[in-house]
Amino acid sequence: MVPKISIAIDGPAGAGKSTVARELARRLGFLYIDTGAMYRALTLKALRRGLNLDDEDSLKALAGESCIELTTDPEHLTRVFLDGEDVTQAIREPEVSRHVSLVARFPGVREVMVRRQREMARCKNVVMDGRDVGTVVLPDAEVKIFLTASPEARARRRQRDLLAQGHNIQLDLLIREIRERDRLDSSRPVAPLVPAPDAWIIDSSHLNAEQVVEMIVARVLGRLS
Ligand code: C5P
Repeated sequence: MVPKISIAIDGPAGAGKSTVARELARRLGFLYIDTGAMYRALTLKALRRGLNLDDEDSLKALAGESCIELTTDPEHLTRVFLDGEDVTQAIREPEVSRHVSLVARFPGVREVMVRRQREMARCKNVVMDGRDVGTVVLPDAEVKIFLTASPEARARRRQRDLLAQGHNIQLDLLIREIRERDRLDSSRPVAPLVPAPDAWIIDSSHLNAEQVVEMIVARVLGRLS
């Protein structure tokens, strides 16, 4: 029997985590779990309800009563459902990106999300990406990657993605937003964005997704053999 394997991929916004994680999952036949999409879906719901984003109790209650599902379509893309509604596109809107770190900073919210994420990984081989997967969600993951890149490289990638969605946003604004999100994610007291001590740190500033995937596949196959 092939042993169960979990691959944790953490790192800052725009380092290429989701592209790499999705392709890895496809290559290895693993389930891909995008934990950021879960925080985004909750943020979308909180914004739609006009909730106060400083109110931890309300946000935790909202997390507890929300049904957030991740499914993989035939093209291996993740579709995100919030209480049955397909919110795959809506959660990528700049308005959600601007507020998600505020929602994700609360321990009460994270507790609900982490429980669900562990449940999803219990019986399957997974590639899970986020900020705290190797440190908190799956501390026993067999392979841990911390994928990073310079703020400028990440902002350029984000700009390209947003342009493809019809949003033309200036690079320096994106660099500022990325730095601010890094600051919030890295400095929060609970589950901050830091590499796990046993993580393999990959700087993708000068690598494309394919090269990063190859490096990780080689390591996973090495572990399996
Ligand atoms: O990965 P993505 O950029 O979509 O994540 C959006 C936000 O969700 C992050 O900036 C972070 O605030 C939060 N997040 C988190 N923990 C995770 C995944 C995402 O706090 N495991």
